[in-house]
Amino acid sequence: MTHKVVKIITDDYGEQKKNKNVWHLSILSCGDPCTLCEGEFYGMGQSNCTYKEKIVKSNGVTCIECLKHIDYFKRLNVNLHNPVKRSKK
Ligand SMILES: [Zn+2]
Repeated sequence: MTHKVVKIITDDYGEQKKNKNVWHLSILSCGDPCTLCEGEFYGMGQSNCTYKEKIVKSNGVTCIECLKHIDYFKRLNVNLHNPVKRSKK
């Protein structure tokens, strides 16, 4: 499965980000793109930050905090294909 990764280079005020060289996992929150680790929105109409994004097949995320989140999700014991049905009262 491909996924989108993003580097946030400068913040809204034009200041260089300390972690500008790391690739975050880009996710959608309320339909808008943001980083997984900090929920930092980027892109048109969201932020004046500068960024670079790309689509990768695997191993594109280099942000330690994003990787921690991904590892946590992988360890969750959920069954996406057979969700528990709730009984109606
Ligand atoms: Zn991150």
